[in-house]
Amino acid sequence: MQKKQQLCILGATGSIGVSTLDVVARHPERYGIFALTAHSQVKKLAEQCQQFSPRVVVVGSAAAADELAGLLKQKQLAHIQIMHGPEALCAVAAASECDSVMAAIVGAAGLPASLAAAKAGKKVLLANKEALVMSGQLFIDAIHASGSALLPIDSEHNAIFQCLPRNYDRHPERHGIYKILLTASGGPFLHRDVATLTDVTPEQAVAHPNWVMGRKISVDSATMMNKGLEVIEAHWLFATPADQIDVVIHPQSVIHSMVSYTDGSVMAQLGNPDMRTPIAYGLAYPERIDSGVAPLDLLKVASLHFEAPNLERFPCLRLAYEALRTGQSAPTILNASNEVAVQAFLDKRIGFRMINQIIERSLNKMRVTETPDLESILASDAEARAIAEAMIPS
Ligand code: NAD
Ligand code: MG
Repeated sequence: MQKKQQLCILGATGSIGVSTLDVVARHPERYGIFALTAHSQVKKLAEQCQQFSPRVVVVGSAAAADELAGLLKQKQLAHIQIMHGPEALCAVAAASECDSVMAAIVGAAGLPASLAAAKAGKKVLLANKEALVMSGQLFIDAIHASGSALLPIDSEHNAIFQCLPRNYDRHPERHGIYKILLTASGGPFLHRDVATLTDVTPEQAVAHPNWVMGRKISVDSATMMNKGLEVIEAHWLFATPADQIDVVIHPQSVIHSMVSYTDGSVMAQLGNPDMRTPIAYGLAYPERIDSGVAPLDLLKVASLHFEAPNLERFPCLRLAYEALRTGQSAPTILNASNEVAVQAFLDKRIGFRMINQIIERSLNKMRVTETPDLESILASDAEARAIAEAMIPS
């Protein structure tokens, strides 16, 4: 019998974490859980411990660790080791007992642990796109230096990965690649009168038409910063320049992305919009396993629609392309100011239209610098957060 793959799930209580555990539960003979991590949802984590018996769990604070210890004792699970804090996240991601790491913490908070997994040679299933946007070259270099495998979980990048040749070596010209076509649903405000966007509420912004996701990525989808981050993510994953990455609005979210080749062929990956498909692909690669996702019924889909993105409606997409072209610390500044602005919008401290304004002003205010290591990336991130925060009315 094949040895079980031991998994560490960073961000187990989030939308991606829960979907990952759903796939894992369908294949107990293939996967074991070495570690689960959560920031503050201690009760949910305790329930996951009962179902999946991890060896170690990590939470955000000492107080959360104490609360979890009480819950695990009640459940006769006191043997599970409890750790807390950012260093513990890095420790479990790099632990020798772990084979594969699902990087599904949201935002910059996920970078150190995702990078630790890459450096330690783990198979990295990457959902945490912000980590790659911030650290681009450093992350890819770490993957190559350790010889680990990087499997994109973001549905678009997973689709592209599936549409590229198996021997793809990060040289688009050697494989006849004309363009990468990233599809985007356009989010909940695709056809809303632009003049009324100033008034939208967080509840309206997080109500995505096709996907159920965490709150931050849902707001990013409404501004299309999500697609902007994905353009940068695609650049690092597939080594394609900005000019070879096009965004195509496709409101049905049935085609998850495409690769257009120089001979006129376009390869696409289709499926129902459910993250368990890319997660299962990443977990079992190069094999395929049941993900629990219903087969796609094309007759029910009936028609597929495409349109070009309007950069006046979605200035965040323009800002992301600009940051990618500028390079160096620009994508880190873009990401950090976006995280601050999105949180302020969710907290009802600023309106929806202020999000892109805060990002643009932060990019204009900060000098772009080289960021060759984690320390300089985190320093740029912290500086951009302070600058963006100062623009938010108290
Ligand atoms: P979520 O908000 O549902 O979950 C986030 C997880 O991260 C939770 O487990 C939370 O405990 C943990 N977390 C939050 N802040 C933390 C911190 N400071 N330190 C440690 N852990 C922390 O988010 P999600 O929708 O699951 O998204 C996770 C990542 O996957 C994001 O980077 C997102 O862009 C990406 N992604 C998500 C989807 C999706 O469908 N949800 C699709 C593609 C990519
Ligand atoms: Mg995506």
